[in-house]
Amino acid sequence: MTERKQPLRPESTSLDPVPFTAVSVQGDFWATRLETNRSVTVPYALGRCQETDRVENFARAAGRADGVHVGTQFNDSDVFKVIEGAAYSLQTRQDPELEAELDRLIELIGAAQEDDGYLYTSRTIPGSTLRADVEGPERWSHLYMSHELYNLGHLYEAAAAHHAATGKPGLLAIALKSAALVEREFGPGGRLAAPGHQEIEIGLVKLTRATGDGRWLRLAQRFLEARGRADERELYGPYSQDHAPVVEQSEAVGHAVRAAYMYSAMADVAALADAPGFLDAIDRIWDDVVGRKLYLTGGIGARHEQESFGDAYELPNDTAYAETCAAFANIMWNHRMFLLHGQARYLDLLERTLYNGFLSGVAMGGESFFYVNPLASDGRTAFNVGEGASRSPWFQVSCCPTNVVRAMPSLPGWVYAVRDDRLYVGLYVGGEAQVVVGGTAVAVTQTTDYPWHGEVRLELAPQAPTEFSLRLRLPGWAAGRPVPSDLYRYLDSGESRVRLSVNGEPVRAEVVDGFLDIRREWRAGDVVELTLPMPVRRVLAHDAVQADAGRVAVERGPLVYCAEAADNGGHALDLALADDAELTPQHRADLLGGVVALRGGGVTMIPYYAWSHRGPGEMAVWLRRG
Ligand SMILES: [Zn+2]
Repeated sequence: MTERKQPLRPESTSLDPVPFTAVSVQGDFWATRLETNRSVTVPYALGRCQETDRVENFARAAGRADGVHVGTQFNDSDVFKVIEGAAYSLQTRQDPELEAELDRLIELIGAAQEDDGYLYTSRTIPGSTLRADVEGPERWSHLYMSHELYNLGHLYEAAAAHHAATGKPGLLAIALKSAALVEREFGPGGRLAAPGHQEIEIGLVKLTRATGDGRWLRLAQRFLEARGRADERELYGPYSQDHAPVVEQSEAVGHAVRAAYMYSAMADVAALADAPGFLDAIDRIWDDVVGRKLYLTGGIGARHEQESFGDAYELPNDTAYAETCAAFANIMWNHRMFLLHGQARYLDLLERTLYNGFLSGVAMGGESFFYVNPLASDGRTAFNVGEGASRSPWFQVSCCPTNVVRAMPSLPGWVYAVRDDRLYVGLYVGGEAQVVVGGTAVAVTQTTDYPWHGEVRLELAPQAPTEFSLRLRLPGWAAGRPVPSDLYRYLDSGESRVRLSVNGEPVRAEVVDGFLDIRREWRAGDVVELTLPMPVRRVLAHDAVQADAGRVAVERGPLVYCAEAADNGGHALDLALADDAELTPQHRADLLGGVVALRGGGVTMIPYYAWSHRGPGEMAVWLRRG
């Protein structure tokens, strides 16, 4: 491997995220959720993977158990995703029992891998039925539906995470053996092909980041460049974003998760490789999504049909699809866009999606999940494969729960970034971080009660006095813009009076790329205090969004609110809210794990993420203006 190591592009200008291994999360809001994920969701999902034979499939493929393959052809991926999430969690807190459990699983996965590196239990378990339109008769013969490469992308992501968290080489070795086989088949001199469901591209770039070896990055780029090449392949069409070469695409189409995984991978490749046209294409597609295809919650993918994006401004509330996986994919994509461009607007999107359309996907208890995240509900209609209009304990296609498992503990890696002598504070999340800015190690302690209150305190401790720029994100919602487009706007468009001080002295900071920029010589013990006022804001949608015509939504800080039947006399869909009705924030420690509720105009509203915890009932984000 060392001989063939290829260098990365040295002149890359993108920002470096401060990795999850260097950031700890403390404080109420996220620390509680990360702990629930670690102590409840991870073991719960592992248990489900065992009960549903997802783990047993590896034992059968290893020749250690009898029986045929059980479940879908992409069930292997759920095991890999749980390992990835568990690995992130191990970094948060040592857990010898969990670490030993992962060691056992990894040994089993290694045993299930064929001698040449092939790993796909639905083909290799002896006696399994191979369907022509699913697995395909031979290896790699039906990439459109087989998910052979999709599963491996999740293996590679898990391997990179496990190696980063534990330093153990086992899963990474399995992943590299697999990737070498994939390269022999599809790399330079091999077949030009594209998987039906994107994911391996992201995983391959993570292998490059984990090993420093550029060959995996080139392979990711080759898979992306194969898409839409009608001169080379028979195309799958827009459902798989395989209707035109990626550099010629300008609109978000097809299956939303596939799409956003692809855009994320294009951003990865654009950051590290010479990939002409990649960045321009995802910039155009981003404009299309943010300007025309984004729910206020950050959800993407309007249609149940093919789990796909709708047309421009097609954003129905009750039949919204807005899959939990798509919200996570939107977060991943926007994080990468931020690293490429250094602009806060991408983190505004990340934050909006994180606190709303993603967080709604998991119950506070950590053991039930939404696949679909509508913005209105009659409390009866079932969402996708859920049981009625409520979160489900698991799904036959269980992509969303296992994405929650890995997304939640990824959060520490989204908080900070650095570039040269600039330190970016992207999210307001309490905790500690160890960063290196302009060659100097700096300890950062962030204290905040976000998202309930907008006060943020940062204490910096550089190893030695040193000059650098501290860039604090000025959230779009605090600057009078809910989203960086005209898709949504505040009814009361005034900006908030943001206050900023250093060591108690008020300072004025220039806004650069959406960040408050403070450049000075920093000394250990310096304290920066930022106050972002959180007035209750009313939101209107672009006139072309028919579903929201004559309706208003309500936000406070980064949170989108909804009305739920439980607080409003048993109904919500017919509620009206007068423009001049004053809505008053009320901290309610007793409600839904502790929330700030809003009351006024005869309506009570709660954060959208917290809905559906009190039995079935109506819910609405967009209320009639009346
Ligand atoms: Zn999903």
